[in-house]
Amino acid sequence: MKYISTRGQMAPLEFSDTILMGLAPDGGLALPQSYPQIDRATLDAWRGLSYADLAFEILSLFATDIPPADLKAMLDRTYTREVFGTEAITPVKTLHDGLKLLELSNGPTLAFKDMAMQFLGQLFEYVLAKRGETLNILGATSGDTGSAAEYALRGKAGVNVFMLSPKGKMSSFQRAQMFSLTDANIHNIAIDGMFDDCQDIVKAVQNDHAFKAAYKIGTVNSINWARVVAQVVYYFAGYFNATGSNDEQVSFCVPSGNFGNVCAGHIARQMGLPVARLIVATNENDVLDEFFKTGVYRPRSTEQTFVTSSPSMDISKASNFERFVFDLVGRDGAEVARLWSEVDAGRGFDLSARLDAVRSEFGFVSGASNHADRLATIRQVDGEDGVVLDTHTADGVKVARELRLTGETVVCLETALPAKFAETIREALNREPPRPAGFEGIEDLPQRVVEFGADAAAVKSYVAHALA
Ligand SMILES: *Cc1c(COP(=O)(O)O)cnc(C)c1O
Repeated sequence: MKYISTRGQMAPLEFSDTILMGLAPDGGLALPQSYPQIDRATLDAWRGLSYADLAFEILSLFATDIPPADLKAMLDRTYTREVFGTEAITPVKTLHDGLKLLELSNGPTLAFKDMAMQFLGQLFEYVLAKRGETLNILGATSGDTGSAAEYALRGKAGVNVFMLSPKGKMSSFQRAQMFSLTDANIHNIAIDGMFDDCQDIVKAVQNDHAFKAAYKIGTVNSINWARVVAQVVYYFAGYFNATGSNDEQVSFCVPSGNFGNVCAGHIARQMGLPVARLIVATNENDVLDEFFKTGVYRPRSTEQTFVTSSPSMDISKASNFERFVFDLVGRDGAEVARLWSEVDAGRGFDLSARLDAVRSEFGFVSGASNHADRLATIRQVDGEDGVVLDTHTADGVKVARELRLTGETVVCLETALPAKFAETIREALNREPPRPAGFEGIEDLPQRVVEFGADAAAVKSYVAHALA
């Protein structure tokens, strides 16, 4: 399997090359030349496999430059009860009205980002050791990506992590998760500014090609293909857990921000998994809901992006959306390059002529949720089912219930546990969210973080000194 760019100008690469690359040289994102097709006999053979064995079957189709025994060993180390809390890894819970929740947040940092990031940690260490190379990750986080990356890469050989976060903007739980790590290869940098200031610094460093090459700077966000493909696995696992036979169809409802999670669902559906619809749920930042309703993509500026109580979805330029649009326009890289030159010029684009295909061929629909919906849904599900949802999953449940058709099996993806967002849970339920074992008193541990203004030069000099 070889990988091409959504903008059509990259010579085909192997899987391992795509994971060390940030953006493709032409500014696009990596995708396989074609999606492997899963027939009914294969689906029957996969039902009943353990999560790690299923992951091996699926990833073998994509990571064709990694010897199978090595890939198997990495997956066996990643998807264990020790790391994810249950034998099933991603169990399914059914609410009283039949709506299903796919649990993806039982990993080390209590959000679905662990599902792929834990594997990416293994993969980085393996590929770097094989090549005798090192990689220094410079990332920006508003909360969940940073902790997932740090827990996946702490203590790993050949990798250092420099994670920028907006000073004082994360929840105290999220801050404690990141800043209490004491591993020598983990560096937390709080920036006096917003998430966007952190992101701008990362981009400034990426664009300093001499610095990037000298200090081997890499990236860990969901433009990385390995993260998307690792997420494909839980759509298959969720389908098997939610159904009694491969004759059934299910729909998935996905709380979305950067479109990485639901992009994996799109790929699973393209591979032949019996998925009826993919329901995209947004919060008040509804750029994706607007697209799936109108066919018009109108990315918002930072000033037009709201700070909400489902903060991990406060995104107005969904980078993985480009992967879906590539398929939507018949894999025409030149057309994608033209559309994103409009985005870069602040204009967006109009694909309303293809809205029929978005719905009928690709199965996409969407809905949006807001703070009041979130509180009402958290209260309702707590009262009716005794389940405390996190704020992002609540957005998904609200939209799933709104759009569900009679007889349709809908699986809503649980993207985080409520312990991460205690403030909103207190507002909704007047009590503390349940806290998983091992996180007691995490806020009281000593914290290690350096602070800078929103200044790329200061960050570069810190990185240079740390690596000297
Ligand atoms: C990252 C995140 C999302 C959004 O996922 P995307 O892949 O960016 O669409 C939703 N909920 C939570 C809790 C997250 O951490």
